[in-house]
Amino acid sequence: MTAPSRLAIVPFVSVDSMMKLVHAIGVERFLTELAAYIEEDFRRWERFDKTPRVASHSHDGVIELMPTSDGHLYGFKYVNGHPKNTREGLQTVTAFGVLADVGSGYPMLLTEMTILTALRTAATSAVAAKYLAPKGSRSMAIIGNGAQSEFQALAFKALTGIDRLRLYDIDRTASEKCARNLAGLGMDITICSSGQEAVEGADIITTVTADKQYATILTDNMVGSGVHINAVGGDCPGKTELHRDILLRSDIFVEFAPQTRIEGEIQQLAPDHPVTELWQVMTGKVEGRRTAQQITLFDSVGFATEDFSALRYVRDQLQGTGLYEELDLLADPDEPRDLFGMLLRAAPKNGPVAAVQGTRTP
Ligand code: NAD
Repeated sequence: MTAPSRLAIVPFVSVDSMMKLVHAIGVERFLTELAAYIEEDFRRWERFDKTPRVASHSHDGVIELMPTSDGHLYGFKYVNGHPKNTREGLQTVTAFGVLADVGSGYPMLLTEMTILTALRTAATSAVAAKYLAPKGSRSMAIIGNGAQSEFQALAFKALTGIDRLRLYDIDRTASEKCARNLAGLGMDITICSSGQEAVEGADIITTVTADKQYATILTDNMVGSGVHINAVGGDCPGKTELHRDILLRSDIFVEFAPQTRIEGEIQQLAPDHPVTELWQVMTGKVEGRRTAQQITLFDSVGFATEDFSALRYVRDQLQGTGLYEELDLLADPDEPRDLFGMLLRAAPKNGPVAAVQGTRTP
């Protein structure tokens, strides 16, 4: 049997390799560089195929496919969201993804994306905040201190200069875990006993809770003028975090409006309520923050181009690291039309007929 061609070998980045890659680069540098890729792709927004993600909803959660292409590369992510999972010792969100060459259609990378999603979500939030948060912001409240929370904190530190955190979670052990993980990383951290206490004096409010319902993590009276809200946890039909009155007082920024109207906080508003897409701000078509009093809201749900950027970034970093396995993922006969012949030639010694008929005893 001949060895598969180089094109048929697909680099696979396991969870273990992803963790090694992140450490080799450094978490904050990784977030900063990834943010640059995300921003670069938002700036060439019009080049991308865009569609709301394909969601399969069930009683306990959702499984989604998130595809996009810039005409040269194609990427997709498989991701789930199951808030009840943590009670069973499982992640709320897990993911993996593929980057492929549009020319041949051959996959070029298969990678874990659970860690990568947390990194890209945080990097996207921080990029949005660069344009929307009040100038000189230093203090951020994080409500919901689960899997995503430390990534959010570090992205805002690296990209926007946040160095004071006010943590709140209905489960105090989650806040303690978050504070412990971030200890020694240059942030002054306060654990708060209510959402109200957490938002006091915060320039930025991040909500990143998980609950499969219309929750009210922030009520209208908790949000003062001039604040930037980074609403990450409401990302599914029937799953929101903010009281509707806050939305009515805010200037709302979204990734891809057709998807966010289905999944984001703005599902609570009329379908024609005005929103601005982030790419318009990044390309200078629309102003981000205009006044110190304005409440800006990034209604984050996560869009396919961010995963595409993350896949691109990881592919570019892998070179020379050895932090991947070579997967024999694609059948690659020497004569392309002889797929069956390749199968026959792979038969065990007792011959092709037995191989075709099967050798298992019933
Ligand atoms: P997680 O289950 O690890 O953590 C969620 C935390 O929220 C838990 O610690 C829980 O105790 C806390 N919580 C729940 N209800 C709360 C409330 N009322 N007040 C305060 N805290 C509360 O989940 P995760 O992986 O950190 O994800 C958080 C959310 O972010 C999920 O809803 C997920 O779907 C969403 N998410 C969004 C994006 C995006 O791109 N926008 C990406 C990834 C995850």
